[in-house]
Amino acid sequence: MLGACATGPRFEEVATKDTSRTFNTVVVDAGHGGKDNGAYRRFGGAEKIATLDVAKRLSHKLRESNIKTVMTRSSDVFVPLEERVAIENEQKNAIFVSIHFNDSRRRKIRGFETYYHSPSSVDLANRIQTKLTTIPRSANRGVHHANFRVLRLAKYPAVLVECGFLSNPREGGEARDSDYRDELADRIAAAIVEQRYGSDHRTAKRESTDESPLFNRN
Ligand SMILES: [Zn+2]
Repeated sequence: MLGACATGPRFEEVATKDTSRTFNTVVVDAGHGGKDNGAYRRFGGAEKIATLDVAKRLSHKLRESNIKTVMTRSSDVFVPLEERVAIENEQKNAIFVSIHFNDSRRRKIRGFETYYHSPSSVDLANRIQTKLTTIPRSANRGVHHANFRVLRLAKYPAVLVECGFLSNPREGGEARDSDYRDELADRIAAAIVEQRYGSDHRTAKRESTDESPLFNRN
């Protein structure tokens, strides 16, 4: 116990680089894998399957937006937490986004949650949470500070997204639906793109549409 205290959180604390507006790489982390199923519920199946699919879709969408991605795993394999952190920290200019699904003994509990540790991760966490809750009929369980190792040891801004409760009949069912998983990836990707480039170019696009001849005639 004493040994553990000596290497406690303060000792391990990592100075973060605030790359939240300059990053060119996103480390996409599919939670669990291999011998580690994560949560496993009748409605939602194994968490490790859903996280991998959302992570792959997210990676694909980010690449379409010309953002480089690195996946901590791209198949059903076990990757220790330390290795996930190491993959992130060896990047030159990155952020880290970990994908998980939630679990509760109370079946009624549902909704999205996003976690962060360093102050430089707050913006990204808020943005992802806000985008996710634009999904119709979704529930917002908020953005929270957490001491998870993958967040605490991260050199760069890092967030962990809980994409709904496998223990909830509806969200568990949605987690099994590939269209819904694509929607989750879509919202998270949109938040990351907005975090990097701002929402200005979107607004600009909308304005130029409003200036179309059709609109002006009204
Ligand atoms: Zn998990």
